[in-house]
Order: sequence, then C-alpha cells, then structure tokens
Amino acid sequence: MDYRKEFVVHPTKKLKLARIDPAQSGGHASNEAAQPEITKYVTRMAELQALLYANADQSLLVVLQALDAAGKDGVVRHLFSGMNPQGTSVFGFKQPSAAEAAHDFLWRAHQRTPGKGEVVVFNRSHYEDVLVVRVHELVPESVWSKRYALINDFEKLLTENGTRILKFFLHISPEEQLERFKQRLDDPARNWKISESDYSERELWPQYVEAYEEALVKTSTAHAPWYVIPANHKWFRNLATSQIIAETMEEMKLKLPPTRVDLEDVRRKYHAAAAAQEKRNGKG
Ligand code: AMP
Ligand code: MG
Repeated sequence: MDYRKEFVVHPTKKLKLARIDPAQSGGHASNEAAQPEITKYVTRMAELQALLYANADQSLLVVLQALDAAGKDGVVRHLFSGMNPQGTSVFGFKQPSAAEAAHDFLWRAHQRTPGKGEVVVFNRSHYEDVLVVRVHELVPESVWSKRYALINDFEKLLTENGTRILKFFLHISPEEQLERFKQRLDDPARNWKISESDYSERELWPQYVEAYEEALVKTSTAHAPWYVIPANHKWFRNLATSQIIAETMEEMKLKLPPTRVDLEDVRRKYHAAAAAQEKRNGKG
C-alpha cells in the first residue's frame, strides 16, 4: 500500500480526524507479518541517509506532532534505529524559554533546521504555536490565525534552500491514550513520562482535534505535506512513517558525491606505500 497517497492531508478537502480509524493497519495482520517490510524501509532509510550526508547538498526535516502518549518518542527511536548519529539530530520543543518567548514564534525552530547533509526530527515543533497556544488561549486569535501563512512561507523558504519537509500527525484514540497512561502508571520504568497536565490536557481533546484539523489542512502543501498516521498500533505507525520517509528520500535523487581526487594518482601513492610497508615488514 502507498501510505503517502493514503494518508496525505489534502489542502482543499475538509479533514475530519474522527473519520480516520486510528487502529487500522494497512492490511497487515500483525507486527510479525509487517516486520520484513519495516526492516526493508529502515535499511533503505539508513542507506539514503548515508548518501545525504556524503553529498551534503540537501537536507531532511521530519516534524512530529500528536496528543500525549501517541508515540512521538517511539517514532524517534524507530527512525534513528538505522541511521548514523553523525548527521542526524532531534529537537524536542518544550514550553518556550524566556529568550525564545522574547522572539517571534519561528525563531527557535529556524535555529534547529537541518544544515546541508543533515536529518533533523522535530519532536513537537513550531506547530505548537497554533495548537497548544490556541487551545490555551496563550495569544489572541488575531495572532495565531495569521501563523498558518507565516508557517507556509517559512517552510517554503527551507524548501527553496534544499530541505525536504515531511510532517506526521500521530493519530490515536482516547481509549488508546488512556491505556498508555495506565502503562505509565503501572510500570515504574515509565513513571517519569507522567506529566501533571496529562489529564487536564486530555479533557481538551475536542479543542485539540479542532486545532489540528484546521492546522493540518491549512499547512499541508505540495512541498511540505502532512500525513495523518494511524498510531494505535505502534508497529503500523513505524511501518507507515518509515515507508513515507524512505520513498520521499528516494525522490531526492541522492547519489554518491563526485570523487574530489585523482584516483590514478592516489592509487600510485597507495602502491608505493604498500611496497614500502612490505619492505619494512621484511626487515623487521
Ligand atoms: P513533552 O512533549 O511531553 O516533553 O511536553 C512538552 C510540553 O511543552 C507540551 O505540553 C507542549 O504543549 C509544550 N509546548 C511546546 N511548545 C510550546 C509553545 N510554543 N507554547 C506553549 N507550550 C509549548
Ligand atoms: Mg508529555
């Protein structure tokens, strides 16, 4: 199945998240059944990332957004399971620091965008400024409503500069969220993930859905598409995100960089060095 076609948000169609089943799994019966495909995409992503790094003329930005416990951290672990730490990084967007809050809302995002050759994942992002900020009325509507166009311009600027942008909304059901909250409570190793605001934020689910539906439609563009990823099944979420990333990277036409040296000359030097080494070994 082509998950890019399946899950892309159309900028002209109304988006109703309630109509997208968060428990679907693309025809795969189980994690085990999907594993070979997951491995294939993770392997391909790793190869393409190595080429991206070697070439250093384009970059990739992956934006992850979701309600609590939908699996953003899990996707980060999954995506990077095959990639080389050199040339990759993750940035988690928390409540803005004093310095960040003193600037325009895109300032902190812009500083973290990937340089040429790099892959960067935003765990939350500049989209919080039309999501949590809207839901909690941290700025008036007259301010946040202008941000969609600003975001589109910002992402256009990055694209023009050689950055491919992919944006994922991890879609879970309220029941699945509650189940994961329970696991966080029951498992001491996960207690640290519990946040004071988990349950009050959960109460605001409908307001978040409304904010997401508007944001996703208004900012899903040809150059920076949004995908709604059914995320109740962690393995399916991993499969869909890695397929979409791998196939997008295929389109980037990444090739090995040109050789910068005279190979014949270097070959001669190598043989001379090998002969000299052999001579030394013979003496020793
Ligand atoms: P977590 O992702 O669990 O580490 O939580 C990060 C928190 O920071 C979430 O509650 C976000 O809603 C919040 N946050 C991120 N960006 C902003 C922002 N621009 N304004 C206010 N809160 C934010
Ligand atoms: Mg949290």
